[in-house]
Amino acid sequence: MKQSCEVAIVGSGFAGSLLARVLAVLGYDVMLLERGTHPRFAIGESSTPLANLSLERIGIRYGLEDCYQLATHGRWLARFPELRRGLKRGFTFYRHHPDQPFANRGLESERLLVAASPHDFLSDTHWLRADVDHHFVRQAVAVGVDYRDHVELSAAEISPDLVRLTGKRDGEVIDLRANFVIDASGPAGFLAQQLSIASGLERTQTRSALVYSHFDGVRLMDDVVPGLREGPYPDDWAAVHHVIDEGWMYTLRFDHGVTSAGFLLTPRGIASLNSSMTGDPDQLWHALLDRYPTLADAFAVATPMMPIGFRPLIQHRLTRAAGDRWALMPHAYAFVDPLFSTGIAWSLRAVERLALAFETAKNRRRTPDAEALARYNSQLGKEADKIDLVVAGAYEAMAHFDLFAAQAMLYFAAVSFAEASQRLKPSDDVAWNGFLGVGDSVLDPLPGESLARLRAITKSRSETGSSDDRQAFVDWIGRAIAPRNIAGLADPARGNLYPVDFDALIEGHALLAMTRDRLIEALPSLRGMTPQPSFT
Ligand SMILES: Cc1cc2nc3c(=O)[nH]c(=O)nc-3n(C[C@H](O)[C@H](O)[C@H](O)COP(=O)(O)OP(=O)(O)OC[C@H]3O[C@@H](n4cnc5c(N)ncnc54)[C@H](O)[C@@H]3O)c2cc1C
Repeated sequence: MKQSCEVAIVGSGFAGSLLARVLAVLGYDVMLLERGTHPRFAIGESSTPLANLSLERIGIRYGLEDCYQLATHGRWLARFPELRRGLKRGFTFYRHHPDQPFANRGLESERLLVAASPHDFLSDTHWLRADVDHHFVRQAVAVGVDYRDHVELSAAEISPDLVRLTGKRDGEVIDLRANFVIDASGPAGFLAQQLSIASGLERTQTRSALVYSHFDGVRLMDDVVPGLREGPYPDDWAAVHHVIDEGWMYTLRFDHGVTSAGFLLTPRGIASLNSSMTGDPDQLWHALLDRYPTLADAFAVATPMMPIGFRPLIQHRLTRAAGDRWALMPHAYAFVDPLFSTGIAWSLRAVERLALAFETAKNRRRTPDAEALARYNSQLGKEADKIDLVVAGAYEAMAHFDLFAAQAMLYFAAVSFAEASQRLKPSDDVAWNGFLGVGDSVLDPLPGESLARLRAITKSRSETGSSDDRQAFVDWIGRAIAPRNIAGLADPARGNLYPVDFDALIEGHALLAMTRDRLIEALPSLRGMTPQPSFT
C-alpha cells in the first residue's frame, strides 16, 4: 500500500466515494479507505429533488455521466437497470390512531400527499444503498482513486505540515501521509474520536430511537385502505410516513418488491412501551404493528429480510466540521432524523462544496483555503441547527394532524423555492446557498418561531390545543411562507393533495424575481425538457 497521497478519504459510502472520484478527476492523488467492504447494507435511501439536482450538477461539472443519469428515475432505469432503486414520486403522510383502522374519510382524511416530480420519468428514487454505494466505489476506482477495503485505522495525527494516518490492513501496517483528510465515515466517525471533537448534541432538540429492517411482501396502502381519494401520484410510490402516537414509521418501496421500513420512536413513545420490549427488536416491532390495525394489515404477510435492528438514539452532533487539513462530511458531523429525507441532499451539497473548495484553492498544496473551510464549518453548523428545528417542530406537531400538515409546509416551501431558484437561475457557486432556508431572510427564522408556537399549543406534552389555536397556527404558517410559496402550498382548497403545480409557479414569478415571460421561457428546465448534456 502507498505511503503517501494528496487527499485521504475515510469511509466509502456514496459521499466519500463520489468526492474521491471528483477530486481524482480534478487531478488529485486520492486514497479511499473503507473499514468494511462492498456491497454492504446501509440505510438512508430516499432521495429528493435537491439531492438529484446536486447529483446532476456534479455529473455535468465533472463529466460524470452516471451521476446525471442516476438523477431521475426514468434515466436511471434506462441506463442502469441493474442498480436497484424505487420510484419516489413524493412525500405521503398518514395519521393512525391506536386500535383504529386508518380513517379513509375523503377530504377529511388525515392524509397528506406532496408531489416532488410532475411524472414518473423525472421522479426521485429510493437508493438501494448496497448497489448504489458499490457503483460509486467502482466508478471512483475507474478514474484512478486508490481504494482499499478492510482497513482498520487506529490513529490520525494532524500537524501544520501533514496528516498522518496509521492502522492495519490484513495484518500489514498502514502508515500514510496526506496533505488533507476527509472523514466520510458516518456517525461517531473516525476523526471525531481521533481529534476528540466535542459533542454538540445538547444544542439539538430532536431525540428518537429506531427499529428497522428490509421486508418482503409489504402490501400497498391502496390495497389495505380501499377507496382512497385519487392523489397526485399513487400513494405508495413515495417516501411514506405513518404518524403514530409513539412517533412515526417510514416505508420506502423498491421497484423489485422489497420495502425498507422503520419506526422512529420518541422518548415518550418508548416510555409508553413495556421496557422489556426494547431489548427485543422483534417483539417491539410486532407490538407496534399490533397497535395500529392498518399497519398490521400492510405487514400481515411481510417477512424481514434481515434481523430487525434497534438503535436507542440516532441523533448525533459535533461542535466542528472542519479545520486545518481536515473536513467532515455531513453524516460524520451531524444527523437528526429521517423525517423529510434531508441526509442525501445535504451530503451531496457538501460533496459539491468541498469539490469547489479544492478547485478554487490558492495555496501551493492545492487544499481548501482557511476561508473556505471556515465557511464550510459555519454553513454546516447553521444547517444542522435548521434541520433539527424543522424536524423537532414536526415531532411536536404530531399531536394533531392539522398542526403536522401545516408544519410540513415549512419544509416543502423551503425546498421547492430552493429547487426552482437553483434550476431557473443556476450559478457556479449555488452549492454554497444555505440548505433548508439558511441565510434566507424570510425562511431562516421560521423553524425556530414555529417550534415555539407549537410548544405553546402542545405544552410539550402532545396536547392538541383548541381548534382556534390550531387554526391560528395553520393561518400563521400560510402567511409566513407566502413570500417563498411558489408551489401553491398551504392551500385549504387542495384538501392536502398537492401536485407539482406549474401554474402556481408561473403566478409566483415575482417571488423568484423573474418576469412572467422569463419564467415561462425557463420552464423546460423544470419539466426535464432540456437536451441532455454531452459527456465525452
Ligand atoms: C434511520 C435513518 C434513515 C435515513 N433515511 C434517510 C432518507 O430517507 N433520505 C436521506 O436523504 N437520508 C437518510 N438518512 C441519512 C443517510 O443515511 C446519510 O445521509 C447517508 O448515509 C450519508 O452517507 P455517507 O456516505 O456520508 O455515510 P455512510 O453511509 O454512513 O457511510 C460511511 C462509510 O464509512 C465506513 N466507515 C465507518 N467507520 C470507518 C472507519 N473508521 N474507517 C474506514 N471506514 C469507515 C462505513 O463502513 C461506511 O461504508 C437516514 C439515516 C438514518 C440513520
